[in-house]
Amino acid sequence: MGLLLDGKKIANEIQSEVAQRVGELINNNKRVPHLAIILIGEDGASHSYVNGKMKACKAVGFEYTLLQFATTITEKKLFKHIEQLNQDDDIDGFIVQLPLPKHISVEHIIPLIDSKKDVDGFTNHNFGSIVSDQPLLLPATPFGVMELLKRYQVTTKGKHCVIVGASRIVGAPMSLMMVEQAQATVTICHKFTQDLAKHTRNADILIVAVGKPGLITADMVKSGVVIIDVGTTRIPDATKKSGFRLSGDVDFEKVAPLSSFITPVPGGVGPLTIASLLLNTLKAYERHHD
Ligand code: NAD
Repeated sequence: MGLLLDGKKIANEIQSEVAQRVGELINNNKRVPHLAIILIGEDGASHSYVNGKMKACKAVGFEYTLLQFATTITEKKLFKHIEQLNQDDDIDGFIVQLPLPKHISVEHIIPLIDSKKDVDGFTNHNFGSIVSDQPLLLPATPFGVMELLKRYQVTTKGKHCVIVGASRIVGAPMSLMMVEQAQATVTICHKFTQDLAKHTRNADILIVAVGKPGLITADMVKSGVVIIDVGTTRIPDATKKSGFRLSGDVDFEKVAPLSSFITPVPGGVGPLTIASLLLNTLKAYERHHD
């Protein structure tokens, strides 16, 4: 059985570091970082993620503001709120919680966010900065994965990293970070990849971000592989108080014994995404004050 990469533990470490920095600001009579969150509609998972983000802000001493709107909000109205947040000198960073209702296009919304306040790291400017000498606000989930690998001292240099999933939010930026920062050799797979197992079996490090429970089975990995399971799917489960349990994309029971390191779901990558949001908000605050 591989060593569990404990995302909760690393996220707590990061929270303590951020809280310490906030303590220093307070001692120096400075204002604290301020994060705003736009939440639209009633999606249960989105509400739960946003609650987690607000709880983390509270824990580290950030100020935070929730702007909550009905699913019926128009794109035009949302544009206005984004513009207000861009202009508001008191706000250091903000996020628009995804997914958005069908009538609002994420492609229309993201480019409107001032890249200096884009603490999710979704804008082209921040995405592109992954391959520059001075990375700016890095996409939060891949940034969290990098922190996890770094803090567990997982060797990445020269290793073959296979990424399954190529989204703008996770897989694509992850692949660039694994090349640029981790100095790995990268293969990126997606829904049109032929013979997925042929690729995954070659992975020293396998990062999966698809959203299909059980996609990666024991016969698809080699012994000693490092597994990072980003997938998070809600599975109905009457035995749970919430009525569901979370599942990753990897068949944990069968794959864990073959791995050298593995993330659990939940408690792996999820908490790191929130920790990255805190780090990005602090960074945006510090750049704002420079
Ligand atoms: P997405 O739907 O935008 O992208 C999915 C990707 O998987 C696409 O590139 C698609 O081509 C690929 N894909 C689909 N079927 C495939 C298959 N059979 N074989 C190989 N590739 C396939 O999703 P996303 O936003 O990138 O999220 C992916 C998963 O990660 C979801 O479960 C999501 O909930 C989770 N997620 C978790 C966190 C976290 O903090 N833990 C953050 C973001 C996303």
